[in-house]
Amino acid sequence: MDSLHAAAHESLTDFLFGVVELGVFQIGQVVIEKNPPGFSLRHEADTGREDLEIFHSPEDALGIARCDDSGDYRPLKTAPNLRRRWELRLDSLAALRLALDGIYPAALGNWRAVLRGEKIAPPLHETLDRQTGMYRITGLLTQHEAARIIDSLCRPGCLRQILWPIESADPGPAPAAPEGRIPLFCTNPCSHFLGKAREAVKSRPVES
Ligand code: SF4
Repeated sequence: MDSLHAAAHESLTDFLFGVVELGVFQIGQVVIEKNPPGFSLRHEADTGREDLEIFHSPEDALGIARCDDSGDYRPLKTAPNLRRRWELRLDSLAALRLALDGIYPAALGNWRAVLRGEKIAPPLHETLDRQTGMYRITGLLTQHEAARIIDSLCRPGCLRQILWPIESADPGPAPAAPEGRIPLFCTNPCSHFLGKAREAVKSRPVES
């Protein structure tokens, strides 16, 4: 783990080099394989299959992540519904970094920031109090309402691990990186959370 902390002070591509050298070969539902001189990616449920559709560009990652197996748009890129039956062959570490960012945006950067000891997950109420326009009302969200949204939206609908505390006094959950995986951290409530928070506040009885 010490070498990982050392790599966290390098560029993102060098950090990723350190990560794969340590044998970290999974992120979310994606398995990373060494395929010299590059890498190949596929859905974890397609390990060992030979009948996959082959892609070659890191930009293809965006298309792979766009829709689920039914062809429906995936508004939340960390929902556990990544489509199957594809293989993305990449010729370099830089291409791997771009592809991972296309499938799981910011995951690598968030992990590097956590390893560097950076504070990247402000308390929920700080974030909600900063909202303007249609989300300004979310500043009124109670702790109980926030917990209900986490239970209904984030678990089990999202693979990210929430790092933000609800209230400022709370230290927040400790980041955990499962063995052999690039962790997926949630550092700020996403737009789906904000939408649910707005709904929760607006659906209260008028007198409240
Ligand atoms: S708030 Fe975070 S954990 Fe919850 S659904 Fe959005 S990205 Fe996932």
